[in-house]
Amino acid sequence: MTRAESAYLGKVARLGCACCQLLGVGEEDTPVEIHHIREGQGMAQRAPHWLAVPLCVPCHRGDRGVHGDRSILRQLKCTELELLSWVISRTQS
Ligand SMILES: [Zn+2]
Ligand SMILES: [Zn+2]
Repeated sequence: MTRAESAYLGKVARLGCACCQLLGVGEEDTPVEIHHIREGQGMAQRAPHWLAVPLCVPCHRGDRGVHGDRSILRQLKCTELELLSWVISRTQS
């Protein structure tokens, strides 16, 4: 990972959980994990750090999370790309 990538990931992690905030239930200081969109689709060897989305543990790895049945995304009527767009809109400063 380059210095620019790790600085960017630090910024992303400080946003708090994307799903929870889109649902209006999130607090910005919720501990998050970094999810890479398209994870598990053959890009793992060159982790695309710019495709990072901050998610809390339930939204990331929970039953309803993006690695679970993904019902959190259905509830939000939202795709992972839209989560990424949320991140990008908040990291432009
Ligand atoms: Zn969450
Ligand atoms: Zn993930």
